[in-house]
Amino acid sequence: MSIERPLPEPSAISQMFWQKASEGQLWLQYCEECSQFIFYPRVICPHCFSTELEWKPVSGRGVIYTFTVVHRTDLPGFENQLPYIYAVVELEEGSRMTTNIVNCEIDEVYIGMPVEVVFKELTADISLPYFQPGCK
Ligand SMILES: [Zn+2]
Repeated sequence: MSIERPLPEPSAISQMFWQKASEGQLWLQYCEECSQFIFYPRVICPHCFSTELEWKPVSGRGVIYTFTVVHRTDLPGFENQLPYIYAVVELEEGSRMTTNIVNCEIDEVYIGMPVEVVFKELTADISLPYFQPGCK
């Protein structure tokens, strides 16, 4: 069976994120200098420019910071997912992640909605962190 949608390509910097995601865990970089979590993976803290970054597990819980409903797309591989919810989720730990909201009716989504991470396995090595309605 072929994969219709394009796949993320882990880099040396993001490898840990994808490895943990494939194990069903959400890990983010954490800055030892300013004590903030960071997403997306990078070599320098965007808050204080420190390079003292570690990887740590996070709760996987957060709230919808903002979202939109995608009804049309010209991105190859995404047509069969329409309509879908494209969102920014603010994690309990403070970082914001772009993601999709799943396992939820489109008209039930709202800003501030409590959500929790759920992983969708695309291949043996790649699982995508999505979010679904959760308890707060
Ligand atoms: Zn920092």
